[in-house]
Parts: sequence; structure tokens; C-alpha cells
Amino acid sequence: MVKINEKLYELENENIFSNVNKKIKEYKLKNHNKRIVSLGIGDVSIPVIKPVIDAMHEAVDDLANMTTFDGYGAYYGLTELRETILKHEYKDFSLDEIYIGDGTKTDTTSILELFDINSKICIADPMYPIYRDGAKILNREAEIIPLSEANNFLPEIPKDHYDILYVCSPCNPIGVAFTKKQLTHLVEYAIKEESIILYDNVYNSFITNKDVPHSIYEIENAKKVAIEFNSFSKKASFTGLRCSYYVIPKEIHKNINYLWKQRTINRFNGASCIAQKGAIAVYKKESQEMIKKNIRYYQENARLLIESFQKLNFTFWGGIDSPFIWVKIKDDTTSWEIFDLFLEELNIIIIPGIIFGEMGDGYFRVSALGSREMIKEAICRLESYYLQDKS
Ligand code: PLP
Repeated sequence: MVKINEKLYELENENIFSNVNKKIKEYKLKNHNKRIVSLGIGDVSIPVIKPVIDAMHEAVDDLANMTTFDGYGAYYGLTELRETILKHEYKDFSLDEIYIGDGTKTDTTSILELFDINSKICIADPMYPIYRDGAKILNREAEIIPLSEANNFLPEIPKDHYDILYVCSPCNPIGVAFTKKQLTHLVEYAIKEESIILYDNVYNSFITNKDVPHSIYEIENAKKVAIEFNSFSKKASFTGLRCSYYVIPKEIHKNINYLWKQRTINRFNGASCIAQKGAIAVYKKESQEMIKKNIRYYQENARLLIESFQKLNFTFWGGIDSPFIWVKIKDDTTSWEIFDLFLEELNIIIIPGIIFGEMGDGYFRVSALGSREMIKEAICRLESYYLQDKS
């Protein structure tokens, strides 16, 4: 009889997330009249900007015409898109080093196919749970390193050897980011240990702190040890369109760049050409201005949330270089209990910290990616609940 990949039975993420959705659905069924607002969504709420929509309309029309029709694209992405990314974001690299994917979720997990199955992988907790579960699906064992308030929820430089380190900065769920100095220590570690850093940089457009690098390659020698992942999802509302990009420097040891090309030819036929043509339009001057404005909108949401959590005397992290705020629960309530309380008493959805790993219990994550109206409504409910509670 056929044997199933046993690791699939061990996945936690799907169960936990469906538990959140199940609880919300059940509550809504019993409480039709209640208006629920969400501070939970990691998805964006601002629609795709017009220059991108126009470029995609054109791409669709091209597909309908014999003279402009194009079928399979390049495995590593449209040359024009890769050239555009190179010009705007990675001037010190060559075209060969830029790859287009259909999302950082896929890219950051499938990259493990490059490495030996017994590679020692390091993943922090709390962290974007896809790294942990993606590794599991590919039958890789990852060591989970607990993060804590003492280190501002940033991973310390490991004392042991690891072959592969997952690093997310600005980080989901905590919302904090590595400074240049901290990242320099990490790169030095990777050089010494001959490790590879898988650097998830999807929230880099939210960075405001001058000490926080916009790319790991701002750090000396990072080209020798780091693969950087980025996406159009959060910065340009491509969460449904699906288009990402990543850099595998040729300087990385063991000819990884060449090997990834061999792997990609056999495993991927490229991202949608419509999405890629839309992505080219992201770099137009007018688009960049619109995108900056949209990011400022989310940043203002984050500011309003921070202001309110301060007023309510919550301890929290993030919201400055990222759209996420990580909030400490005031008493010994668990993160599931606070989720239930917020849902039932305040009709607000938050994400229980435990979803991001065991160390996340005792915390919850809120997101600034919702609409202003929703954020303001949530703040209003939070303040009337907690301020009234106090009196
Ligand atoms: N990496 C992190 C840290 C994320 O939080 C997310 C989405 O929430 C992703 C990657 C997924 O990005 P994409 O939409 O490009 O797959």
C-alpha cells in the first residue's frame, strides 16, 4: 500500500489556524447581529494601484493576440522584471543572481531543496510558522531556539554550529528588526561557521529606523553567506496576485547559484506572466509614490494602535519597522483565552501568540494592515473596555 509522507500528520500550523477560523465562524453563527472587527489579518486591505492594474490589463490583452502572445516564460522570471529589480534594488548584483518566484512562502521553504537533508537548521520561536512546518514537510529537522523579552525577541548569535539559519527582519510576528550592528554579528557568525542565512525581508518597506538595514547585503561580506527573499505581497498588495523575488549571490560558497538554476529548471515554470508584468510597473516613479503613501497609511494605523496600547499600559514590541505589534497579556491568561475574551467581549479578532510557537503563549499579535475605520473601531472598543474595567 502507498505510504504517505508521515511528516504531514505532524503539521501544527494548519490545525492552529483553522482553530482560529473555526472559533470565529462558530461565534458569528451564534451572534449574527454582532459586528466583528479584525486586528488579526496579516493580509493587506489597500487595493492594487492603478499603474499595476493597467500593466496587467495590457498583459492580458497581449495574451489574446497571435503576434504578442507568449507561452511559457523564463524559469527564473521575466528578464525585464529581473533587470528592473536589479536596477532599483540590487545594483551590486548581476542578472544571474536574481530569481522571481510566486511568493516568499514558497521560496523560503523550497530553498531547502538546495541543502543536504541532514543540514542543521535553526529556527526561532516565536516565528513565521511556515519555516518550521515547511521544513517538516521536506523531512528536515529544525532546532527551535526560544526567544524572550530579555533579548527584545531577537535571536541571539548561536553558541552552537548551524548550517542554515532562518532570519526574518523586520519580523513577523514580533514586529522588531535587526540593527546594522546586530546583523553584522550574525553575518560574522555565518562566515565563521560557513553557514547560510535565509533572510526573509518581505517587510522591508515598513522600516523607519535609520539603524535598520533595508537589505542584509548592506552588511559587509553578507554576499558570501546570505540568500535574501522579498515579495510584492505586502508592499504592493500582491497577496492574491503572487509574485516574489530573491537573490542568490554567486559569491556564496559551493556554487549554490548554479545548483539552484539546475533545480529550478526541473521544478518551476515561472510565476504568472500577468503578475510579473504588473510587478514591473511597481517600479514606475508614480507607482513608487503611491506605494509609499499606502505604506504610510499602514504606519499611521500602527501609530494609532501603539498610542492606544501605551494609554492602556500594555507592554508591546514592534509597529515601528513593521505592520505588526506584539502585545504582552497583562495577567496569566493564555493566548487562546485572550483570543476568546477579545472575540466574545469586544468582538475583536487578534492572533494568539501561541500560533507562532510555544514561546508565544502569554502574548498576542495585532496587525496594522486593516482599514483605518476598522483600526479606529477596534481602538475605541479596547479603550472603553480597559478604561472602564479600571475604574
Ligand atoms: N514571510 C513572512 C515573514 C510573512 O509574514 C509572509 C506573509 O504573511 C510571507 C513571507 C509570505 O509572503 P508571500 O505572500 O510572498 O508568499
